[in-house]
Formats: sequence, C-alpha cells, structure tokens
Amino acid sequence: MTFDTMGFSPELLKGIEDLKFEKPTPIQEKVIPIVLSSNHDIVGLAQTGTGKTAAFGLPVIEQIDLQNKSVQALILAPTRELCIQISKDLQSFSKHINRLQITAVYGGAPIINQIKALKKGTHIIVATPGRILDLIKRKAAKINHIKTVILDEADEMLNMGFRDDLDAILETTPAEKRTLLFSATMPKEVARIAKTYMKTPEEITIGKQNAGAENVRHIYYLVHASNRYLTLKRIADYNPDIYGIVFCRTRQETKDVADKLIKDGYNADAIHGDLSQAQRDHVMKRFREKSLQMLVATDVAARGIDVDDITHIINYNLPDELETYTHRSGRTGRAGKSGISIAIVNFREVTKIPYIEKIIGKKFEKLLVPSGTEICKKQLFNLIDRMEKVKIDEKQISPFMETVNKKLEWLSKEEIIKHFLSLEFNRFLAYYKNAPDLNEKPNNRKENRDNFDKRKRQDNRNKRNKSNNNFQRFFINLGKKDGVLPTNIIGMINDYTRNRDISIGDIDIKDKFSFFEVDGIYTSTILKAFKDSKFRGRHINVEIAEGINEGNRKKKRKRK
Ligand code: ADP
Ligand code: MG
Repeated sequence: MTFDTMGFSPELLKGIEDLKFEKPTPIQEKVIPIVLSSNHDIVGLAQTGTGKTAAFGLPVIEQIDLQNKSVQALILAPTRELCIQISKDLQSFSKHINRLQITAVYGGAPIINQIKALKKGTHIIVATPGRILDLIKRKAAKINHIKTVILDEADEMLNMGFRDDLDAILETTPAEKRTLLFSATMPKEVARIAKTYMKTPEEITIGKQNAGAENVRHIYYLVHASNRYLTLKRIADYNPDIYGIVFCRTRQETKDVADKLIKDGYNADAIHGDLSQAQRDHVMKRFREKSLQMLVATDVAARGIDVDDITHIINYNLPDELETYTHRSGRTGRAGKSGISIAIVNFREVTKIPYIEKIIGKKFEKLLVPSGTEICKKQLFNLIDRMEKVKIDEKQISPFMETVNKKLEWLSKEEIIKHFLSLEFNRFLAYYKNAPDLNEKPNNRKENRDNFDKRKRQDNRNKRNKSNNNFQRFFINLGKKDGVLPTNIIGMINDYTRNRDISIGDIDIKDKFSFFEVDGIYTSTILKAFKDSKFRGRHINVEIAEGINEGNRKKKRKRK
C-alpha cells in the first residue's frame, strides 16, 4: 500500500513526500482507511515508534473543513512535550495546506497566551487534559462542535492521574463525535474509558499486545546493588558509541548517577522534576544534538522524550510498576532501528524478570558484565577504527610533518603505534587493571545468606502481623492530581524510613490527597521520615489522620 492511493489531497501528499515517508507503517495502513471511509471509533494498540501520530494525524487533517472556523478535532496527550511534538508533526504534515490552524495548549505555560491563540480561531487543538479542561471552563476553548477526539498515549494519561479530567472532558464533548484511542498497553483503566465513552470501537493491535518493539534486545546483568554504578560504567565503556537513557527511580538517584558520570568524564546529564522547564529544555537540546551521550532520567521526566536513534536503554534499577518497563524500552528500537534494553538487577529484582518477560512477550538474555580485559579490547579496537577513518587535513598538517618525522626517526612503525595507543589508552588500562568480577554468582554463599535474611524478615513480618493489627492512619497531601500511585507511597515509606519491614495496610488515593495505614508502632518513625521530604518537586506533608483503625485488615498490601 502507498500513501498515494489512500485518498489524501495533493497538498497533504506533498507534505508526506517532504518527510520522505515511503509507505504507511502497519498501524497507519489499518487506521487511515477506517478514519477516512467510516465513522467507527478505534482503539489502536501499538508500542512507541510505530507511527501513531501520522496514523491519526493525516486522516484528521484530511477531514478538516477549512471554511468552518470552529474547532473540529481535539487531541489529548499526557505531557507538554508530547503536545508540542504532536502539533509540530501535524504542522509538518500540513505544511502545504495554508489555512489550517493547529494550536497546542498545555500546563506549565502562561494560560493568557493560550487563550489569545484560541481566540484567533483554530481547527485542531492539541492539549494536556488538565489545561484544556481549565480552558473549557473559562470558555476559551469551545469544543461543542468537535467531530473527532483523539486520546494519544491513553495509558500514560491515566498513569499520570488524568482520569477525572478525561472523564470530565469526554462527558462534555458532543455525543455524535468520533473517538480514537491510542495506547501502548491496555490496563483496566484504559479498557474502562473505551467501554464508557466509545461506540463498539474497532480494535487494532499491531504486533503482540503489550509487546516491546520487535527489534529490541533485552539483557540483564545480575550484580550486587552496591555495584550498580560500576556496572553502568562498564556498560558505557564497553559501548563507546552509546547514545542512551539511564532510568533511575528517584530524582536524587538521577542526580547522583549523573554527577558521578560527569565527574568520571562521560558526556552525561540528568533530567528530573527539580529542574525548571528552561533547564529541562536545555538538557534535552544537548541530548538531541548528541552533545550528551547519556541522559539520566526519572520515568516522569522522560515521558516527553522522543528521540529516534537511542542505542541503549539502561534500567539502573527496575521500575516500581513493571508495565513501565515497556515504556522505557520502547524508547529504543524506533523507526526500524535496532536497540538494546539493559536491566541492572540484584538478587531481589531478578525475580521480577519473568513477569516483565510476560508483559513484553519476549525473553531476556542473561549476560555477564564485561570484564576489564574485554572492555580494554573493545576500546582499543574502537580507537584503532577511529584512527583508520579519521579525516586528514593535508594542508594544515603537512607543514609540521617534516619536523615530526625527524623527531620520530628513532622509532620503528610498531613502536610509534604502541606509543600513540598508550597515550590514549593508558587511562583505561590503569582503571581496569585487576578490575574485579562484578557478576553475582547464583550459587554463592551470598545468595544463601540473602535468602536466609529474606526468610527471617518474612517470619518476623508474619509474627508481627499476627500480634499487632493496630494500624495508624496517615494523611498525605498527594493525590491522583499529583500522579501518585500506591506503589509510590509504598516506595516512599521504604525509602524514607530505610526499613522495608514496616507493615502497610490500606492505601486510599483521593483526588488531592490520600490516606495510608502503617503498623502503629512505627508512627513516630513515619512522621520523622517524611519530614521535609518532596515528591516530584512538591513538599510532602504527612499527618496523623483521626482515629486509630483497629485490626481486621482484609486487604494487606504485599511489599515489593
Ligand atoms: P508513536 O507515536 O507510535 O510512538 P511516532 O508517530 O512518533 O510514533 O513516529 C515515530 C517515528 O517514525 C517518527 O520519527 C516519525 O516521523 C516516523 N514515521 C512515522 N510514519 C512513518 C512512515 N510511514 N515512514 C517512515 N517514518 C515514519
Ligand atoms: Mg506517539
């Protein structure tokens, strides 16, 4: 199939041609004809990098009535970055359609300018759910005539706590509109949206549902947690041309890892919630330009990142929500290229690998962390390769050659090579001289000890749970609106108290705040631990909620 035969206007075809898209991707091949020739709703499941933006963007642009000045399509996406990306993509598709107006609106930017832009009139709005709802309430965005609503990255929007906003928006749009929903995964919440707001949608699944991109290799290294950073360094040294994202779980860890990498001479930087938008844009610009080889990021900060040639995704540790792994690894292997997703895991995390394999529908390869010798060999060949291929500027260099030759007369060719290599290479040889083996051996005493510890902890926990069913209920000023999930709260309790044995009861996430319950004997530990803490840049306030809840817990949370 080609774009020419799909029924697009010559202007739109010209835009596609400019982009050098040769033929539609599988999801485009399926979605475009349905949108152009019927009025069916669509649920499109496809991993990142499959060309979803054009799949909905092209036919929606084609169907805009330019004479009609009202808003005809609303595209919802989870982040500011994605809104900007999508509207840029639509702009380039429609480069030759002069009068088409596309407006992006999102949080974190002055609303006044967006109101002004909308006042001028627009055919397509690309928006984050929170901001468009605000604009609808202020009567700046009028969506009562829209024909199409598109939910892009629906799973991410729900992950980020936009559930109520989405409900509110979908309820106010005209009943006869068409809805297109795109998602990489199909968790329950996405299915609920489809069931509640869509009319017997056609379901289009590209590749295996929930599968990671076909051309991504998944690898894990089993190491002791204290060796994570050294392992990361070896990965970087073993892949001199690496262009990758290193995912960390917390902002602090992101900063620490990036600081160490920079100190150790790598082209790396961090992107996380503590940075201002301008700082984030600056880091992203350097990464896009490849001035940075490694971007250390939290999952939240990485959500908008849309870069094509990523060679490696490194999971510095596994994500709390295992589904997130799909999003991480989906950032490589895009646009037909191959990529590698590496997980650095310890004994505790390695047990999660089979679950991830189920989610991605693919097996991991367990590889050994490269040894010092292997890395030196790799670096050496890389250096020689670069030396062979280097461009020589004859004109600039020839005036020096005579003197240089004279000075090196006493050295043979072999010796000259040896000297040059050592000059560049001694640093690596020295660093990796006697470098230890970082691999954890499955059968060593350490594992037995770990397992013993684990059993003992479990026993203690069981004992405590039997003897003490008094949970203290706490109030925390984080809710759905902040994108907080039960696992985040469990994670914070674990991290801030540095005690993984505290029994946790119910966790109840409300809109703007939440409650959680913890074994009452840890009340002061919790209050102390959460003092002066932050979540995604917001100060956390934890207080005792009224009344102690007595025993009889039905839902006991399992600890990670
Ligand atoms: P998704 O939204 O599924 O993650 P995108 O729409 O962002 O994917 O597309 C991923 C990349 O593939 C982009 O760089 C885009 O320009 C490119 N692309 C999309 N459609 C085609 C096509 N038909 N041929 C070649 N490249 C394409
Ligand atoms: Mg997309």
